Amino acid sequence: MITEVMARYGELSTKGKNRKQFIKQLGNNVRAAFEGSPNLKIKAHRDRLHIELNGEEAEPVIERLSMIFGIQTISPVVKTEKSIEAAKTAALFLVQSQFSPGKSFKITTRRADHNWEYDTNEVNQLLGDYIYKAIPGIQVKMKNPSINVRVEVRLDGLFISVDSTKGAGGLPTGTSGKGMLMLSGGIDSPVAGYLAMKKGINLEAVHFHSPPYTSPQALQKAKDLAEKLTKFSGPIPFIEVPFTEIQETIKQHVPQGYIMTITRRMMMRITDQLREQREGLAIVNGESLGQVASQTMESMAVINEVTHAPILRPLISMDKTEIIELAEKIDTFDLAILPYEDCCTIFTPPKPRTKPKLKHVLEIEEKMDVEGLVQRAVAGIQMEEISENTNQDTKQKQLFENLL
Ligand code: ATP
Ligand code: MG
Repeated sequence: MITEVMARYGELSTKGKNRKQFIKQLGNNVRAAFEGSPNLKIKAHRDRLHIELNGEEAEPVIERLSMIFGIQTISPVVKTEKSIEAAKTAALFLVQSQFSPGKSFKITTRRADHNWEYDTNEVNQLLGDYIYKAIPGIQVKMKNPSINVRVEVRLDGLFISVDSTKGAGGLPTGTSGKGMLMLSGGIDSPVAGYLAMKKGINLEAVHFHSPPYTSPQALQKAKDLAEKLTKFSGPIPFIEVPFTEIQETIKQHVPQGYIMTITRRMMMRITDQLREQREGLAIVNGESLGQVASQTMESMAVINEVTHAPILRPLISMDKTEIIELAEKIDTFDLAILPYEDCCTIFTPPKPRTKPKLKHVLEIEEKMDVEGLVQRAVAGIQMEEISENTNQDTKQKQLFENLL
């Protein structure tokens, strides 16, 4: 019965001159998300986006669409011929799909075709009466009804819809420029990545690993987490940085209390170089104020000191429970709590300084070949594009290799 799915744009309606570009980007993102469904016809118009189903099921389309940023609400639409009987049937069907006891409804009709025999009031009245009689217990409510049925009378037919699903909100991914996401295997950084994407940022993931101290599983876990994020954004370049030499050097030269601070400064320097090379505008990480020793204001200031690039910390004021809630929502939580050691956990002593002094840090780093270490790490990166099924393939390949 449902013939198309319609999406209303979110915040981008306030974007003035950029609006056109935003809508174009959103259209491209939606097309990319539905690449595997050639029957769908996607049209990103000035005021909303339409997906003609051409026989496809509406449910999976709505579900997929609800993960794409830049969309406020999603509605199933039934297109009918211009007859009041057809309109009644379609409106009742849509209301029934949303109805549960206690819910109210309202019909709002707009006419683009003024030659149709019914005016807007008549349509509201006729359909309203019909639904009121057909569904026992339903109430009519003009202000804030739970089910808002919209009828549009156009030249080529009637378009009847109800808002059914909340969109993901935010801005279309790709409209805010590129950011480098420092992606560990933990709970926080994937959530930070999600929130950055929500504001239109195109991400590249940077992951530090230290074989043989960290396992291939730990690396795979970071890639799997990146894959989880691709649902919201499309493919994500994944940059793997060899970090072993740096961690061994730090272990040798740095007093216990400063290991964490200097490790983070090295990561930041490398991420910043990659950012420059890859023309990123900002660095995104999963820091949240007060969560651990490295995440005090004093600590962040000293770590931040190695770069002038903006460092975005979407989780800065969130509590752990809020972060976990979001991680569950975006389906990264179960993966993140798998017990594979991260490169930092292994080398970080139990008592890092919570208020590191920049002066000391600089003195310690003086004794290390910081520049050389950074250059060698950058020279040793490996890049891979992660898309929705990348890891499926590698996992299958691994499985296959294990069997041989
Ligand atoms: P997460 O849950 O994201 O690992 P965390 O609470 O464990 O965060 P830290 O270990 O202090 O916090 O790391 C702070 C941030 O530094 C992380 O959120 C992430 O952005 C970055 N980071 C830490 N380890 C790595 C790594 N191995 N590769 C890339 N980025 C990392
Ligand atoms: Mg961590």
